[in-house]
Amino acid sequence: MSSNEKFHHALVVDDNKCIRCTHCIKTCPTEAIRMVNGKVEIREERCVDCGQCMRVCPHKAISIEQDDLVQIENYRFKVLLIPSVFIGQFPYAYTEDQIYRSLLKLGFTHVYEVEQPIEVLKTLIRREIRENKSNLPVISSFCPAVVRLIRIKYPAFTEQIMRVKAPHDLVAHYILENFKKQGVSPDDVGFFYVTPCAAKITAVKSPIGEEVSIINGVINSNHLYNKAMSVIEKVDELDVEPFKKELTKEGIQWSLTHGETWWQRAKTISVDGIHNAIRFLERMENGQVSGFDFLELRACDRSCAGGVLLSQNRFLVVERLKMRARLYPASSVKMEAEGYGRFSGLEPLAVTDEIKPRPLMLYGSDTFKALEKMERARNIMCHLPGIDCAACGAPTCRALAEDMVNGLAKMSDCIFIQQQWQNQGKVSPQKAFQKMEKKWGENRFDPDCTKKGAKDESF
Ligand code: SF4
Ligand code: SF4
Repeated sequence: MSSNEKFHHALVVDDNKCIRCTHCIKTCPTEAIRMVNGKVEIREERCVDCGQCMRVCPHKAISIEQDDLVQIENYRFKVLLIPSVFIGQFPYAYTEDQIYRSLLKLGFTHVYEVEQPIEVLKTLIRREIRENKSNLPVISSFCPAVVRLIRIKYPAFTEQIMRVKAPHDLVAHYILENFKKQGVSPDDVGFFYVTPCAAKITAVKSPIGEEVSIINGVINSNHLYNKAMSVIEKVDELDVEPFKKELTKEGIQWSLTHGETWWQRAKTISVDGIHNAIRFLERMENGQVSGFDFLELRACDRSCAGGVLLSQNRFLVVERLKMRARLYPASSVKMEAEGYGRFSGLEPLAVTDEIKPRPLMLYGSDTFKALEKMERARNIMCHLPGIDCAACGAPTCRALAEDMVNGLAKMSDCIFIQQQWQNQGKVSPQKAFQKMEKKWGENRFDPDCTKKGAKDESF
C-alpha cells in the first residue's frame, strides 16, 4: 500500500444539529477540526478516526456512517463477525447461545466471534519480539486509530508496528477457506463486521497494508444490540444446534486493556486513551521510556469496551466480559484438547504488506520553506493572546498561527486582535461583526432560550 493512499473517514457532521459550541474542536487530539464559514470542518489528513469528537458533542451532531442491513440479502450465506465486546454489552443473565440465536433471528446465517484465531496472533507477537530484538518495542497494530496516529504524528515508529491483519480479517479468511472447501462460491458469502468504533470502520474500508478488505459491510454495534435485544426473548422458537464455544480466555479479553499483554512473559506495557497514548509516544520519542518488548496502545479508555458505538457503560462491559471469561478455557488447554491445526494455515495469510509512514507536513514538504513558515508562525504567536479559547475556529492560538502561514486563516480571525483593531480605529464595529458572523454563521449570536443552561430543566 502506498503512503499516498486515501484514508477513508467514517464520521459525518450534521450541520443542522451542530450549534457550533467548539467542544469537538477543543477535544480533538490531532487538532483536525476547524470552524469554517459557520460549519465544522474535519481535516481529513489529520483525522485518525478516534471518535473523541463524537463522544463529546452535546448535540449528537456527529455520527458514524454504517452500511444498510438490507444488503445482507445480496448473499446466500450472511456471515456476521462479532467482536467479543459486543457480547459484553448484554446482561450476564443472557447466555452467549441466546445472544447468537437472536442474531440469527435477524437474518444472518452464521455468527462468528472475531477473536477465535487469537492463537495465531499470539504466535506472531512472540515471533515478532524474537526477530526484532534490535528494534523493540514491537507496537501492536490492533487499534486502527493508534496506527494512523503513529503514521502521521510519530512516523519514525511506523516500522515497529506489527504487520499483522486485524482479527476480523483473519477470521473471515478462515471462514471463507472453509466455505470454499465445501464447494461454495466466494460470491455467495457476505461478511458483515459489527464495529464498536469509527476507527474499525475505516480499517475495513481502507485496510492498512492491504489493497482490499474481505469484509462486505459494517454494522454499528449499538444499532445491532438494540435489534438483538428486541428479539432475544423469542429465540427459543429457533430450531438450531447450540453453538460450540470457540473462544478462549485470551480471545474473549483480547480487545480489553491488557488483552494483548497479560499472558505474555515478555516485558510489556498497555496504555489506553488517545491522550495517554499521545503522551506515551512523546515520551518514547524523547527517549524517556525504554526497555520493554511489546507496546499495546488503544485509543479508547478501557480499549474497545469504551468504543463510542457501544451502548453500555465501559466499566460494565469490562466486568461482564471478565465474568464470562471465567467459563472459557485458556488457549493452551483448548489447543491441547483440539490441536492448533484448525488455524495453522492462517499464519501466512495473517501478515500484511509493509505499513508506510504518512507524516503530517504541517508546513509543507519543502524544508527551506517549512523552516521559514515555522519562523513566521513563531512571530505571529508573539501577538496572539495565548488563551486558546477557540473563538477563532481553531483549537489553539498555535494552530491558528499555523493556519495563517499556510494561507488558511487571517490575523483578524482572532477576536482579541479584532477588538484591539476596533479600539485603534483600524476596523469598524460593523465590519468586525460581519467577520464574526461569517466565521460562526448568521444569527449564531441571536438570543436562544432553548439552549442548555438557558431553559428550565427543573430538578
Ligand atoms: S475522530 Fe478524532 S482525530 Fe478525527 S476529528 Fe474527531 S476527534 Fe479529531
Ligand atoms: S461538539 Fe459542538 S461544534 Fe462540534 S459538532 Fe457538536 S455541536 Fe457542533
